[in-house]
Amino acid sequence: MMNQARSILKEYFGYDHFRKGQEDIIQHLLNGENVVGIMPTGGGKSICYQVPAMLFPGLTVVISPLISLMKDQVDALTEVGIPATFINSTLHHEEVQERVYDIKNGHYKLLYIAPERLEADYFMDILKEVTISFIAVDEAHCISQWGHDFRPSYAKIGYMINKLSETPLVAALTATATPKVHEDICHLLHIPWENTVKTGFSRENLSFSIIKGQDKGKFLESFLKKNKDESGIIYAATRQEVEKLYDRLSKKGYSVSKYHGGMSDLQREAEQQAFIKDDVSIMIATNAFGMGIDKSNIRYVIHYQLPKNMEGYYQEAGRAGRDGLPSKCILLYSAQDIRIQRFLIDQTINDPDKQKQDIDKLQSMINFCHTEDCLQEYILHYFGEEHTEKCGQCSNCTDERSVINVTVDAQKVLSCMIRMGERFGKTMIAQVLTGSKNKKLIDFHLDRIKTYGLMKERSAKEISDFIEFLISEQYIDVSSGSMPILKVSNRGKEVLLGKETVERKEQVVTVKVSENNALFEYLRSIRKQLAEAENVPPFVVFSDQTLRSISLTMPVTHEEFREIKGIGDHKLQKYGDIMIEHIIKFKTNQHELSIGEDSNTAELDTNREKRVKKSVENSHLLTLDLWKSGLTIKEIAKERELNVQTVENHLLRCGEEELIVDWSTFLKPEEQAMISDAIQKVGSDKLKPIKEELPDEISYFMIKVAIMLEKRKQKILH
Ligand code: ADP
Ligand code: MG
Ligand code: ZN
Repeated sequence: MMNQARSILKEYFGYDHFRKGQEDIIQHLLNGENVVGIMPTGGGKSICYQVPAMLFPGLTVVISPLISLMKDQVDALTEVGIPATFINSTLHHEEVQERVYDIKNGHYKLLYIAPERLEADYFMDILKEVTISFIAVDEAHCISQWGHDFRPSYAKIGYMINKLSETPLVAALTATATPKVHEDICHLLHIPWENTVKTGFSRENLSFSIIKGQDKGKFLESFLKKNKDESGIIYAATRQEVEKLYDRLSKKGYSVSKYHGGMSDLQREAEQQAFIKDDVSIMIATNAFGMGIDKSNIRYVIHYQLPKNMEGYYQEAGRAGRDGLPSKCILLYSAQDIRIQRFLIDQTINDPDKQKQDIDKLQSMINFCHTEDCLQEYILHYFGEEHTEKCGQCSNCTDERSVINVTVDAQKVLSCMIRMGERFGKTMIAQVLTGSKNKKLIDFHLDRIKTYGLMKERSAKEISDFIEFLISEQYIDVSSGSMPILKVSNRGKEVLLGKETVERKEQVVTVKVSENNALFEYLRSIRKQLAEAENVPPFVVFSDQTLRSISLTMPVTHEEFREIKGIGDHKLQKYGDIMIEHIIKFKTNQHELSIGEDSNTAELDTNREKRVKKSVENSHLLTLDLWKSGLTIKEIAKERELNVQTVENHLLRCGEEELIVDWSTFLKPEEQAMISDAIQKVGSDKLKPIKEELPDEISYFMIKVAIMLEKRKQKILH
């Protein structure tokens, strides 16, 4: 049976192997045992019931709490050739009738329903008439009051199982592993505790970073500029902040959508769809966004503000990289944001015990931002995993920034605070240090203290940022009143006494989350077109992972195409020919299709299709500009995301058009003479035979340059 399961995995889903947890879960089911599977988000829980569903007779019912997810899941199954459907409140009565009819006739292998359906007796009666051999309970933590998304209707599942004419197998799947939730699941769904399959919670493809002591807005923009074509989520703590960021980024021309509790359902749905379908690349949202989002090609999740606890944080950050490709989770820390979370706790929670609990959780979140140990390990320890290893890729594991000693500056700030009586906020302290003539300052006689104007060579903004850094490193405490007042902390006092030095790391530079080649970019636009034609999200057609493999291996036969991870028989049939056609077109015509865009000056244009189609007649001129500015070929290739050969071809073309006259950096006169000899000897301009005549140091590019120069000379002579 396990072999059959593997061939289904290959044939339909295009994967060669089960992941460890998947195999164990499926083995239990094949043995006829109920099972609980606990795996992190992105761990691959769906396969655990979708593959067995194909092996068991009759219908598999999947209970899923999220209506928005059902359609995507069913679309994804249909795309791989598995007959599946859903019934929920979004359908008209007639549609439901039709689907019920088809279910009774054995049309489908999987049926997705929301738990609320089980409350309706007529629906239960329908299920009684159908052979149901297997029930999969997705997001099974919803069954427990101890979970974070309790859904009372989930309690009906046990009742339903008893009502069916034959007792089905049950699998429960969740990413929540607390013992109480686990117990409830086993108890309410009649699953023996020992039939639990639990995999580790680490997500190897995610790299976590904390950015602190740095201007958040600047960091964000520099990051987005480098990653504007990738999908990502930016989480903010409040609706106001979401709106603010949305306005700022959309004015700057970024392709953004927004999502928060203050918007109408309709508006939210529209924004979410635009994001899922890759019509826009950036989603700015409060934590209201994300439940039921299975979008697999999210390349980064940025927390623009401190989240309220680690549970929420890991769930949100975990939405990055479901497809297994490397993805970034970045938290922008500023001590001020602690106050926002404290305020929210104070305002919304009355029960003192609950308040205390939430404050403790917030403290763990803050500690996460200050730890110097591996961030991934901190997360795993928080969730109760004991045996862990350093991840080697988080901002603490990889920190290579140089350290600057700023003790003297810190002493200036701290002693100024003391002299001001520790009664003021950041702005006033900065003004005193710069020697401002602000009226309020004069009224308080602050211009008479010794530290007035002590740092007048700096701007108020610079000092403000520096104070922010001292807060984040806990040299300064912030009181939590309506007006934040700064006080020197115990740690700060040590600095004033000269017992502690203050070190500041240089700023973190932003990076591209994903290096895509030109073929990937091209195929991404093709994927978008195919998805639009099918009315499904692009990642349902191919995941980024699959698209990436295609762009690297460039398959041109059905056999080669079938080898790609994520391509099953159905996708091969459906998309094989058209993709192969585009790959060949690209290969033979790469020059024409390479995307011409200068990342510094081009407008932020997310309409990729337009861009790909846009004639790239002048692409070589952009390359020329960069070359003239002193970049090497390799650097140009990196900057423009082209491969080295394309850049070389651009330069050659510039040579033909006599835009570059002096080639001495590439070709010395004696080398040119040597190549000319070889050309004479071989008697043609076939590259390979010429190359074979010459020493290894002479590259193809040098030969091409020599030939180009030769031709130009001929042209001038005639
Ligand atoms: P979960 O429900 O646990 O969050 P999903 O079922 O949505 O995770 O799967 C996450 C991703 O992993 C999907 O893109 C899926 O195609 C991929 N995946 C699942 N199983 C495998 C496998 N055995 N090999 C490769 N990719 C897999
Ligand atoms: Mg899932
Ligand atoms: Zn690490």
